[in-house]
Amino acid sequence: MYIELVKYPDVFLRFVSKNVSFPLDDKTTRLIRFMTKAMYQHHGIGLAAIQVGYQLRMFVMDCTRSQESPQVFINPVIVKNSEQSLTDFEGCLSAPGKRGEVKRYLRITLKYQDKEGEEHTKTFYNLEARCIQHEMDHLEGKLCIDYEKGNYSRDRHKSQTMVESDFRTKSDT
Ligand SMILES: [Zn+2]
Repeated sequence: MYIELVKYPDVFLRFVSKNVSFPLDDKTTRLIRFMTKAMYQHHGIGLAAIQVGYQLRMFVMDCTRSQESPQVFINPVIVKNSEQSLTDFEGCLSAPGKRGEVKRYLRITLKYQDKEGEEHTKTFYNLEARCIQHEMDHLEGKLCIDYEKGNYSRDRHKSQTMVESDFRTKSDT
C-alpha cells in the first residue's frame, strides 16, 4: 500500500498540533504504526503525525536507516540545548526536491512520553538532534524550507499560495 503524505504548500502543514492524551486509543496506536510504515516507505529518518494528516504532537524517528529501531516521541518538549549549533541543508518528505539551510543545536535534551504514557528525558546529538528539531518544527507548523541562511523566516513563503489539497477527503475513504 502506497502511503501518501501531506505535501507543501498544503496549508494543513501550517497547523499547530495538539497534545496527545493517555491512555492511547486504538486509533492512535494504529496511527503510530502507520507513521513508522510511511517513514520507511519514503526512506525518511523522521516523520510527524501532521505529515500523514493528523494534527497530533507526536513523531517517529529512526536515524539508523536499518529500519529496525523506530522510536516514537509523544508530546515532546525540548528542555535543554547546547550553546553550539550547526547550519546545514535539510530536506523534508513533505517538500520533495526542496532544501532548507537550517541552523540547529548540536545537542538537545528532550522530554517526551512513550506509547504507554511513561515520561522520559533523554539527550540526543548530531543527526538525531537535528532530526528531532526538524520534527519539533512540524508540530508548530514550521518547515525547513522556511529557513534562510540558517535562520527561520516566517515570511519566506508568504507570497506562495497555500492550497488545500484533497488529502483528507482521500484518506477518509
Ligand atoms: Zn519534514
